[in-house]
Amino acid sequence: MDTDVLNAIERVPREAFVPAPLRGHSYENSALPIKSGQTISQPYIVAYMTQMLEPNPRNKVLEVGTGSGYQAAILAKLFRRVYSIERYRSLHTEAMQLFEKLKIMNLTTKLGDGHKGWLEQAPFKHIIVTAAAEDVPGALVDQLDDHGIMIIPVGPDEGDQTILKITKDHHGLVAEEELIPVRFVPLVQGLAVES
Ligand code: SAH
Repeated sequence: MDTDVLNAIERVPREAFVPAPLRGHSYENSALPIKSGQTISQPYIVAYMTQMLEPNPRNKVLEVGTGSGYQAAILAKLFRRVYSIERYRSLHTEAMQLFEKLKIMNLTTKLGDGHKGWLEQAPFKHIIVTAAAEDVPGALVDQLDDHGIMIIPVGPDEGDQTILKITKDHHGLVAEEELIPVRFVPLVQGLAVES
């Protein structure tokens, strides 16, 4: 519903992030497979999670799970700077090349395990995780700033998962709210081993 979020969705060409054979499905409201057995999320869920993050053009945001780069490109329209982490080298490299081609300058990516967050850039007022965690990673809670918001799907792989909104107040106290049921690929420990 948020006008700024809808504008961002309108200005990012989703077909650029979808594998060529599936390009005809780019504007359907469904998740689609990308390389390495991962998925580009359903546009509705991308918009919903972005809106729940309460974007602020003065702030930076941390994304865990770069994948195709689509969610990161939307965030880049709404935040001062995006930091995005991916555990597959191939996905990380392709997304970086795409950001360069699309001339998205306010986005920094790294290859790594998102469970650890991005210590050099912490704290963050906004953190979004785009893979389902079994439990909320402690390092991400630590790297969430006071008055910060984290949006993260939590639940077992292939099981019941819920998007949580985690907030910190000005005393650093953490609160949790359950939003909607979802189905995400799992947040996996460590770097991916690729052939
Ligand atoms: N935001 C992506 C969604 C990709 S699916 C998009 O818009 O396309 C989730 C991604 O999270 C996958 O690419 C997967 O490899 C990545 N991922 C899973 N566990 C991770 C971890 N521990 N650290 C970083 N990335 C992770």
